[in-house]
Amino acid sequence: MIKNPVPWPNGARCAVAITLDMDADSILHLEHPDDSLSRVAALSMLRYGPEVAVPRILETYRRYGLKQTFFIPAWCIEQYPAAVEAILKDGHELGHHGYIHENPNEAGREDQEYWIQRSIAVIERASGRRPRGYRAPLYNFSDHTADLLVQEGIVYDASLMGDDIPYILRTKDGDLVELPGHWGVDDWPPYVHAPDLNFSMPIMAPPRAMEIFRAEFDAQWEHGGFWVGIWHPFVSGRLARWCEVDRLIQYMLDKGGVWFATMEEIADHVLACAKDGSYSPRVDAWPYYAEPVRVTMDPKLRAVR
Ligand SMILES: [Zn+2]
Repeated sequence: MIKNPVPWPNGARCAVAITLDMDADSILHLEHPDDSLSRVAALSMLRYGPEVAVPRILETYRRYGLKQTFFIPAWCIEQYPAAVEAILKDGHELGHHGYIHENPNEAGREDQEYWIQRSIAVIERASGRRPRGYRAPLYNFSDHTADLLVQEGIVYDASLMGDDIPYILRTKDGDLVELPGHWGVDDWPPYVHAPDLNFSMPIMAPPRAMEIFRAEFDAQWEHGGFWVGIWHPFVSGRLARWCEVDRLIQYMLDKGGVWFATMEEIADHVLACAKDGSYSPRVDAWPYYAEPVRVTMDPKLRAVR
């Protein structure tokens, strides 16, 4: 099913990374810059992430001895230092997730470069090191993003959906390891009902949502793949949902042959295998298109068959 499975460490069947994007209330200020402060219920829903969910999540990770990755907008790092300190104190990875969850697809190259660099500086101040990984806010990876990440020395991206397993995004100036996910392992579709964020889904019972995530995991385990959860403290860290996550982690551990790792460790492993010749990752040449595809809009092409 997977043509080119990665040789995972110690013969593991599958690599697993639960990634938590701690967006907190950044997304509300971005959506409603003029009156976000008066949308108090939505603010409280989003602040639940750093204030209540993160301590709960960290406790679970300590109990299982897991180190995982948190992608956090730099503004949230400045706004919620206690949550970030607790994450770092436990040895988890801090990844780049924009400054205030701004949309790279609505910014030119210069603006993007400014906010990427400013956020790197914030992460460096908080953690003592530059981030090695990036996830674009809301998967809004633009046609400049790969080049800017390579320029800034970022090693991996976790925004794209082009494979089941890690692959290489090859830009003119260097490679990025892509650690792909997809909407099927994201917790917004099954859980988020938030009119203030213009996202209203019918809320799924946690065991039903977990059926989706577990099916994705079982298939990856069966075929030697890579499973990533793209979750959010304010969403999956809610009580009944996180109880189900706890059961899922136990299920994965009981099944065996699972390599729980940070995204950084997974990217490093892929690069090390590529370097020692034990594995050749698939390569996506970048960019996909040099200019917009407008075939159907061009009247001159209508006569061509
Ligand atoms: Zn986010």
